[in-house]
Amino acid sequence: PAGKALARLPEIVRWGEDTFGPYPFSSTGVIVAGEGDAGYALETQYRPVFPGAPGTGLLVHELAHQWFGDSVTPESWRDMWLNEGFATYAEWLWEEEHGGDSAQETFDALYDHGEDEYEDLWSFPPAEPPGAAHISDEPVYSRGAMVLHKIRQTVGDKAFRDLVRGWTAKHRHGNADTEDFTSYVERTAPDEDFTPVWRDWLYGEGKPEHP
Ligand SMILES: [Zn+2]
Repeated sequence: PAGKALARLPEIVRWGEDTFGPYPFSSTGVIVAGEGDAGYALETQYRPVFPGAPGTGLLVHELAHQWFGDSVTPESWRDMWLNEGFATYAEWLWEEEHGGDSAQETFDALYDHGEDEYEDLWSFPPAEPPGAAHISDEPVYSRGAMVLHKIRQTVGDKAFRDLVRGWTAKHRHGNADTEDFTSYVERTAPDEDFTPVWRDWLYGEGKPEHP
């Protein structure tokens, strides 16, 4: 029924604080708009707007944008994957921690079938959308989330959590671009080699050869 997911809002915000760090604003909530509004969900600061009562996944996604997109904001549209990749990965993490597919399973399914998505997942790399018209395309969202999953695989679960919380703290209420992010990740885990992650997943053309 409509509003069932909305009842979980406080739980989702608490989960977000555990996962991403302190909630970045003084209030939260949602606005469920009526007919005649935009017709899509939007991560407006403090209270995301939904065209109708959202499901849990969409609610998690839009609330995650309070950290990724509203607090840490992208330097330019080219850095949009920092918003959408994180908000999409938030959905994966929520699923994993609430009895659904693990992020690894979500990743594997996308790797196996990404070319069959309604927008080909491999059509461009997340950090290099071919133009402003493409910043809301699937590679920015799902493949952006895949980049984050590759980082998690590289550093491990605990370090990944610390890394994400450190990122939202470092750029709280500020701008950041893709290079800020990659150099931050490298400084956080100086013993790891992220070259394949950046080369194949973040900037690479086409489907990476190995999952
Ligand atoms: Zn989004």
